[in-house]
Amino acid sequence: MSVRAGREFLAIPGPTNVPDEVLGAMHRPAMDIYAGPLLALTDSLLRDVARVFKTKGHAYIYIANGHGAWEATLTNVLSKGDKILVLESGRFAVGWGDNARRMGVEVEVLKGDMRRAVRPAEVEARLKADRKANGGGSIKAVLVAQIDTASGVVNDIEAIGQAMRNAGHDALLMVDTVASLGCMPFEMDAWRVDVAMSGSQKGLMTPPGLGFVAANDRAREVHKKAGLRTPYWDWTEREGDLHYQKYAGTPPEHLLFGLRKAFDMLFEEGLENVFRRHWLLAEAVRRAVGVWAEGQAISFNIVEPAERCDTVTAVLLAGRDPEALRAYCNDNCGVILGHGIGELSGKAFRIAHMGHVNAPMVLGTLSVIEVGLAALGIPHGRGGAQAAIDWLGEQVKA
Ligand SMILES: *Cc1c(COP(=O)(O)O)cnc(C)c1O
Repeated sequence: MSVRAGREFLAIPGPTNVPDEVLGAMHRPAMDIYAGPLLALTDSLLRDVARVFKTKGHAYIYIANGHGAWEATLTNVLSKGDKILVLESGRFAVGWGDNARRMGVEVEVLKGDMRRAVRPAEVEARLKADRKANGGGSIKAVLVAQIDTASGVVNDIEAIGQAMRNAGHDALLMVDTVASLGCMPFEMDAWRVDVAMSGSQKGLMTPPGLGFVAANDRAREVHKKAGLRTPYWDWTEREGDLHYQKYAGTPPEHLLFGLRKAFDMLFEEGLENVFRRHWLLAEAVRRAVGVWAEGQAISFNIVEPAERCDTVTAVLLAGRDPEALRAYCNDNCGVILGHGIGELSGKAFRIAHMGHVNAPMVLGTLSVIEVGLAALGIPHGRGGAQAAIDWLGEQVKA
């Protein structure tokens, strides 16, 4: 006998819940792509993509997922044989770098691991050594993810940018914000990030299919000599005056209307409030996991509390099959948890708290996990969901 009915609670780290308002905004007939409202829509979206990245630089919208946006960043600033430094803290920056390698770029990974954030001091030391050995330095770009969705870590991008300046190195700083944009602060210009990328289907609450890139003047200068440029991704092509050029072909009309609605919702709530909501709900999750961890079988993947991100929590399960817990929560209670990926495959589950999430969804998810832990006899400290409730009760005042 299950208690599964009604709407599923999707607690995977992307795609995330799409608000009904966004779905509704896409429900409309196709329209002319050469005149009328679509042109104004594109202008407003390019402006707002730059607004959420917090940049005066140039924004680009691609019909692509995050992997496509990765390729857009790489092709526009790199040439075959260039060297880049990838900062490891999970799976995603390394995956981005793997794509670069397959395009003929020389990739060095600054070794990190699945359980901690990038250490800015290590970045500084590596870049200083590069300058010494090669005069001006041979590393052309540094790649890092703000939040790594596999490990649940948050990297300090501002400190990494500062470390690069301390080293006196002029490599481009390129940041993956797929799992962080619209969920926590990102200050592209203030942190001197040169290239940033993201996707529509996580914090931005829109179906998968739109990739976003922003580039500052320094990156656009490097772009002029980039040898990997291809017609579809090319920034220069997309900076052309014709609306058709902005998408290198037919615009993804319906997704654009959905994104417009999602931006309107985020701005109406206020980005600061959106960030605070994410932090409050993330902290509620951490309170629950902290209590469960008292039973010894459960632990946080990210060791250092300050390095745990506000959009997804990776939870290790020692000596037990996390897939059994995921199956229980899904089959019996209609809650879909994320599975462990990469090195955490078969060892962890992930609770996403990203995008269009609220207290009942997060508290419901935590309670269902607790039901699952009890039903499967997985040792855990009792009262995790209660700890989350107590936390929100303290923070969210009448
Ligand atoms: C999801 C994700 C990606 C990949 O995005 P896709 O749309 O699946 O290609 C890249 N980086 C991070 C940090 C992600 O969370």
